Amino acid sequence: MPKGVTTSTPIAYRVAMSEPSSHELEIEMAVPAMPERATADIVFPTWAPGSYMVRDFARHVFQLAIDDGRGGALACERIDKQRWRIATGGRAFRVRYRVFAFEATVRTSFLDDSHGFWNGTSVFFFVDGELGRPCRVTVVPPPGSGWRVATALPPVAGRRGVYHAEDFDDLVDAPFEVGTHEVYDFRVGDTRFELALYGRCNADRRRLVDILRRIVTATGRLFGGFPFRRYLFVVHALPVATGGLEHRASVTMDIAGLSFEDQGGYLRFADLAAHEFFHAWNVKRLRDAATDRFDYTRENYTRMLWMFEGFTDYMAHVIMLRAGVTAERDFLRMIADDWPKYATRPGRNETSLDELSFEAWIKQYKPAESFINRAVSYYEKGLWTAMALDITLRLATGGRRGLPEMFRWLWNRYRRRPRAITEADVRDAAAAMGGRRFDSFFASYVHGKRELPLPALWRRAGLKVTARAAWDESDRALADRDGVRARRSRAWTGIALWPERTVIRNVIPGSPAWRAGLTFGDDIVAVGGARVTAATFDKRVGDYDPRARVRVAFFRRDVLQEAVVTLATSPDRKLIVAADPAANADARAVRARWLAAG
Ligand SMILES: [Zn+2]
Repeated sequence: MPKGVTTSTPIAYRVAMSEPSSHELEIEMAVPAMPERATADIVFPTWAPGSYMVRDFARHVFQLAIDDGRGGALACERIDKQRWRIATGGRAFRVRYRVFAFEATVRTSFLDDSHGFWNGTSVFFFVDGELGRPCRVTVVPPPGSGWRVATALPPVAGRRGVYHAEDFDDLVDAPFEVGTHEVYDFRVGDTRFELALYGRCNADRRRLVDILRRIVTATGRLFGGFPFRRYLFVVHALPVATGGLEHRASVTMDIAGLSFEDQGGYLRFADLAAHEFFHAWNVKRLRDAATDRFDYTRENYTRMLWMFEGFTDYMAHVIMLRAGVTAERDFLRMIADDWPKYATRPGRNETSLDELSFEAWIKQYKPAESFINRAVSYYEKGLWTAMALDITLRLATGGRRGLPEMFRWLWNRYRRRPRAITEADVRDAAAAMGGRRFDSFFASYVHGKRELPLPALWRRAGLKVTARAAWDESDRALADRDGVRARRSRAWTGIALWPERTVIRNVIPGSPAWRAGLTFGDDIVAVGGARVTAATFDKRVGDYDPRARVRVAFFRRDVLQEAVVTLATSPDRKLIVAADPAANADARAVRARWLAAG
């Protein structure tokens, strides 16, 4: 072994961006001598942990050049789409390449003249068998740009622009934002929080920071402190929101930058931040075998995404309530708005939650047209399952213990003895909270396909939930609504259109349009002989009585066709969710603890 080289000598990466408008990151990887290896395989990851889809990131790698570090050639063989085998003879070697970075999402990488961003697995090779070796990254912004760097990785003392990672997992779990982003920071206890905000955004910055402070404080209180000393929120303000990606000590959130003209923009920001920050525990530290040690070359199957994503979605609402970002009425409105959408999804009980998780790689992220009719997102079903478990546990404990306490219990147990958790641990946690086993709950709603009993649980938790049709004249609460418009919403086709288009996105199985043979992709041009647009389709359907037969003209593969649709009465119902004034003392106690503000 050459003098000074050990198994802990870091792999040194350098990321330059001298031509931002080329959208190409210029990357160099210097690998130290590894005398025990005659050959070394360099491998490009194929997926981004937290986003369960094979993305083949190697498709963006160009101008790959491999040498001994001094320009001397090394024999190299490409083994498959993402693996190269280099005859190193145990000596140090260098890999240089360019990555086309032009996909502005939290999972990928992007470079233009306004900023650079990367999520590690979309830009860095690793050396097979050397994932545990430390890494260093040197960031070289465009000359004269004045761009600064935001990342959760610690800087190397005394070396400007150089960052240290414990190993490859650590390296790719810390995205980099490089540009002229705004920087904000605050402290909660000993922990420092930073916000790096890129892009055009019409939000009140003080309010964004206040929301983050409230959310991290409420989450820290739930878990009994923070498992890090520093945490970074990277927020990209873009034309449309595309979600977030969680990391151990940071997160990337892509939000709609100009969506803060009303309260809704701030609530969506808070919901996303609360979800992602909860992940710092649930999935980043409370992990199962598949999310514990990653195989970056292929699918990593887990049956627990209902907990890692669905339960996190639910806990975001609990956290927002506890943080004072929302009030009880917002929580109840979430139920009123979202439950009818879920409860009318045709595919919600066709596949069990654990199976939905397992097949995420081929369905959740690559949904076929029929996904909505034959499956459901484990986020959405997981949220309602979490709520059902929360209420079930509280009913068993007079309201005292529920899902937040269950997560605290799991975390306390994990923190003492770090290891991958299993569903059995979650079941044990539920039993510890409720004082008895809840295995039948998991058998029915996680492994089984039974309808979630939420309406009955809400009643027992002191809520009054009333379903009304929009045209129901008996509803006093809606007395001041437009009665004409309400009556015209009765007729129903079962068609859902793509936003701002007249093209069919979905047809509900068994609905009038389904029976008439309309299907995905049909482009509707007229209803009853009257031309329609995206804005007038519902209005022209509303011209008819719910039992009428109406001619629908549409293009299918550019051929004009017509179907006769026998309309029906819409099954859509509006929920009114409120505290039940007639609830008994037990139910009131459960409700009070369940919806406690802080
Ligand atoms: Zn998530």
